[in-house]
Amino acid sequence: MTNHPSPADVVARLRAVFGTGRTRTVSWRTGQLEALRGMLTERGDDLAAALRADLGKGRAEAYRTEIDFTIREIDHTLEHLDEWLRPRPAAVPERLGGSVAHTVLDPLGVVLVIAPWNYPVQLLLAPVVGALAAGNCVVAKPSELAPATSRALADLLPRYLDADAVAVVEGAVPETTALLEQRFDHIFYTGNGTVGRIVMRAAAEHLTPVTLELGGKSPAFVDRDTDLAVVAARLAATKFMNAGQTCVAPDYVLTDPETARALEKELASAVRELYGEDPAACPEYGRIVNERHFDRLAGLLGSGRTVTGGTHQRDTRYIAPTVLAGVAADSPVMREEIFGPILPLVEVADLDAAIAFIRERDKPLALYAFTESDTTRQRLTAETSSGGLTFGLPVAHLTVPDLPFGGVGESGMGRYHGHYSLETFSHRKAVLDTPMA
Ligand code: NAD
Repeated sequence: MTNHPSPADVVARLRAVFGTGRTRTVSWRTGQLEALRGMLTERGDDLAAALRADLGKGRAEAYRTEIDFTIREIDHTLEHLDEWLRPRPAAVPERLGGSVAHTVLDPLGVVLVIAPWNYPVQLLLAPVVGALAAGNCVVAKPSELAPATSRALADLLPRYLDADAVAVVEGAVPETTALLEQRFDHIFYTGNGTVGRIVMRAAAEHLTPVTLELGGKSPAFVDRDTDLAVVAARLAATKFMNAGQTCVAPDYVLTDPETARALEKELASAVRELYGEDPAACPEYGRIVNERHFDRLAGLLGSGRTVTGGTHQRDTRYIAPTVLAGVAADSPVMREEIFGPILPLVEVADLDAAIAFIRERDKPLALYAFTESDTTRQRLTAETSSGGLTFGLPVAHLTVPDLPFGGVGESGMGRYHGHYSLETFSHRKAVLDTPMA
């Protein structure tokens, strides 16, 4: 299934298939998940090659963050699906004595998944796993900004999955706009907040519920008296993965001036440790997706004193892993989500000032903190709001399948992964049964 039939025809065809009830059976759902797993194991190398073509993504990183990640999501779902689908009993008040109540999960119908370019396999397929597990028909729309991956997915998915129930529609703004005019039963969108608003407006026409997985600036607070070699290694590994083009990458560091000075040196050696003296020659270091983003990022490099990196080359869209020190809170790099390999260090006096700094800004998708102090942990938990809060190891929260993944406020609405995906793509229906006599 590619672009040929009109979006209205695609949706009508899927709706007819949904109406037959075939996607509701648990055997259809598990069969689809197993087929998707088969696709990822048999054709993982093709997908890794497409990711290399689109993003210069290294093979190991492609498997770790996209292919194997999605396989783990499938395995977790297959392992627990029966248990998750079991009717959930509900207590009945005494005045309804004799009645019994429970909830069941109903599939929604035909759902739309719209994915971005930065993790173009994982961010299309992980929601699709939830949509299939919940017994829905799916329209999957990969990002046109990762064209090789979009093509590979459009080619492979119909060969492995039930092509009458899962359609891939490739395309850019016109194609997505036409899709959004259709009535879906849920729209799951991952990308920036400007398009998120377009999606939500279109969904409102049909009263279609939405999940919006958006981005923003995710801060990393570094407390005094933490092991800065460990902090630097973990910050560098998660910031510079995929050349910084990760929605949950630590966007900037907040720390006191003395810690900032010590951390600078550790970050410079952590980058060397990861990518060698010349990251441009390291096969595991990625490239910027396109020239528009390259130019935007190159314009942010002057926002502070360069500790390491700072070099860039437009024809290969290479930007070195860069750490900037002494960055002012209102500098250009602090006014937008960076979404690239630039890590600013912003100095604050103490924890109070860090909390105030975070609260004055949009609620982040993730908040990270490195601390040995329980009080700091408790205060950050109670006094800040973010999609997720992770102590010690940035990005790791989204690899825990029992944790919900999603944003709050400007970073999005709704959540997924594991059981939360099933809830997102189902309706939890209340069932009450009172005896006739
Ligand atoms: P993108 O440009 O690939 O856009 C995402 C999708 O929206 C694409 O499929 C695209 O075709 C579609 N789209 C673009 N313009 C449209 C329009 N006018 N109307 C309808 N559809 C349109 O990706 P992006 O937005 O550049 O992605 C980066 C952003 O996504 C960052 O802000 C990042 O933080 C965020 N993000 C969030 C998550 C998350 O899980 N929360 C994950 C990855 C990226």
